[in-house]
This record gives sequence, C-alpha cells and structure tokens, in this order.
Amino acid sequence: MGLKLDIRLANGYKSPSQRARRITEGWFAENAYCPACPSNKLVPTRDNTRVVDFICPSCKAEFQLKAKSTPLGKKIRDAAYQPMIERVLANRSPHFVFMHYDRNALEVRKVLLVPGHFITPSVIEKCKPLSASARRHDWVGCNILLDKIPPDGRLTVVSHEGILPQQQVRQMWKRFSWLGKVLPESRGWLMDVLLCIRRIGKGEFTLSDVYKFENELSLMHPNNRNIRAKIRQQLQLLRDKGIIRFLGRGRYITV
Ligand SMILES: [Zn+2]
Repeated sequence: MGLKLDIRLANGYKSPSQRARRITEGWFAENAYCPACPSNKLVPTRDNTRVVDFICPSCKAEFQLKAKSTPLGKKIRDAAYQPMIERVLANRSPHFVFMHYDRNALEVRKVLLVPGHFITPSVIEKCKPLSASARRHDWVGCNILLDKIPPDGRLTVVSHEGILPQQQVRQMWKRFSWLGKVLPESRGWLMDVLLCIRRIGKGEFTLSDVYKFENELSLMHPNNRNIRAKIRQQLQLLRDKGIIRFLGRGRYITV
C-alpha cells in the first residue's frame, strides 16, 4: 500500500471537489481490501442516496468513503440524515472509511475504518436544516460523532505510525462482527457501556466505576428507569462475548 495520490486521475475535471473525489477514490480503489472477508478488492458502486461508495464483490459488505484535506477531528460531516438514520435503524449502516490527505504533498495521512455495526443512532447527529434562502432548503445533513464510538470501533489503518497489517485489521474486525446481528436498541446500550469501560481506562475495574456513568447514561436513555440493571446486563453480554472477564465481587477485567 503506497500513500501517494495520483494527480493524473483528476485530468479533465475542473471543480476542486470533483478533482479531490477522483483522486481519493482512485487511491482507495487501488489499495482497499475487504476487512470483513478474505477478498483483496472492493469495487466502486453507484448508490443514488450516496450512502454507499464501494462494495465487496465477495461478501457484499458496503463501504462509504469520506476524504478530507483537514484532520479528522471529533465529528465528520456526512451526507443526508434521513437515508443514513433509516439504514442504521434497519441494521444496514455501511462501513465507514475516513481519510485525511495532504492536498499539497498529495499523500494520504490517516485512514480510519469504522465498522457499520459500531454505528448506532447516538453516533448520528442531525444537522440544522439549510436556511430558507438556500437552494435545497429542505435538505438536512448529518454528522458522524467519532468520539461517541468506543476505540474498538475506530481502527486506525494508516497513520504517522505506519500502516496496520491486513491480518491485524481483519482480526480486530472479527472480534466485534457479532454486533452486526444485535438489534440497534441493544447495540446502542452495549456500545455506550463499552465506551464507559474504555473511558475508565484501566484493565481492572469495579461495578461502582461503571455506576459513576449512571447520570450520563440516563440522559442518553431517558426512557429507561433502571439504568443500573441495564449496566449489569451489558456487562454480562460483554463477558459472554469475551470482551471482559468477571473476577467476582463486582470486579472485572478487560480481555
Ligand atoms: Zn468481503
């Protein structure tokens, strides 16, 4: 995988956004492989809602590529809100590839892979509608909130530290692929509690460490009255999936 972008792909295109799209999509088509199966290529697709840009010819996994010439930050502007949230609620979110490239050096700086099963409704932020004077004034976009996704769902494939080997990316992907079969409501809870565990930032933690997030979780899930029971339920699920281990007497360890 080389990190150089090929400027020749932009030949014949005038608008800067079209040129950028040609160059970054060209790089991705050349270098991408499927993280969900052994397929070593992904092919471009034409999706009229612009939710999907690439598809795996083998397992049919769908990918959306967002390339930016500025660093990725905590939230990333995505396409229209409605088709995106409908897909998330139907457990059909595409997988995301977020790319930061250097426009002058024509080089890829960072590639972040976010599996679609980590995308829950709390990760999609609805933007304000465009002003009434705008041409498409009823259009509503959305943001992807990267900091609401547990680090397990943000795979840094390319960074200044180098390029992650394919085998490792596929292993990390596989560890949470079971999430794809969990309904969005349950996935939301699981991800929120996993994010709390990662924020505790210790290998070993206690139930009361997680209970400290009770208020925050109740704001995120206002219809739920028994937050502590929900927390314990998620810890059991995470244990069953081999993400944490119970040590007894309200003590846990991450695996
Ligand atoms: Zn595949």
